[in-house]
Amino acid sequence: MRHAQNASDLIAFAVMKKKIRILIVEDEQAIREGLIDVLVYHGYAVDSAATGPEGLALARTGKFDLILLDIMLPGMDGYEICNRIRESDRDQPIIMLTAKTSDEEIVEGLKLGADDYVGKPFSIQQLVLRIEAVLRRSKAGIEHAKTIRLGNLEIDTDNLSGRNGAQEETFTKREIELLSYLAQHSERPVPREELLLKVWGYAKNLDIETRTVDIHIAKLRRKIEADPKTPKHLVTVRGAGYRLLSGD
Ligand code: CA
Repeated sequence: MRHAQNASDLIAFAVMKKKIRILIVEDEQAIREGLIDVLVYHGYAVDSAATGPEGLALARTGKFDLILLDIMLPGMDGYEICNRIRESDRDQPIIMLTAKTSDEEIVEGLKLGADDYVGKPFSIQQLVLRIEAVLRRSKAGIEHAKTIRLGNLEIDTDNLSGRNGAQEETFTKREIELLSYLAQHSERPVPREELLLKVWGYAKNLDIETRTVDIHIAKLRRKIEADPKTPKHLVTVRGAGYRLLSGD
């Protein structure tokens, strides 16, 4: 399978082959229908759900290339849906749609395994660019070594799992891609913008305020560091970015 190079390529690819399927879980009818119209116009096949349980049931069919997930939903909120999807599927691309712009709520969504978030009200153009970025990234993937070793922790990148003695840790695909990219460039600190470009697939000219990278880094530190507050592997180089050190 060839890799899509850019957004228009991706859409052309979708039309030629199989349509890319997106699930929208959103209870506000006006937003849900607006999203359906825009995404269908962009060539995607779209399904939608207006309640939490209905959204989870559809998500569990596993047939979607991307899920857009609102947080406040009747029946079951977006956090719980995200959490339940991740119990069985750590590959599924998920973007949270959040009216809440408070840090805690954005952090919570990303902690539960969402790939990214978009704050409401969002511009349609920004949302479409994010969707294209997430899809492009999940298609292309990051080249990675089979194993990443950090001190006593041995991470199996195919199984998305790590082992440190008797302790086992699981990772999302995005976390593994972030680690893999940093491991490939471990000779230098990698700037946040480069990570957004390479690991999240953002376009260069896409000027987005995002805490996505920092929250993923914090989450990874809790998994790979003995003391996440004084990291020895995933270190911050002030003014330069993040650097991965394999040392003991
Ligand atoms: Ca809602």
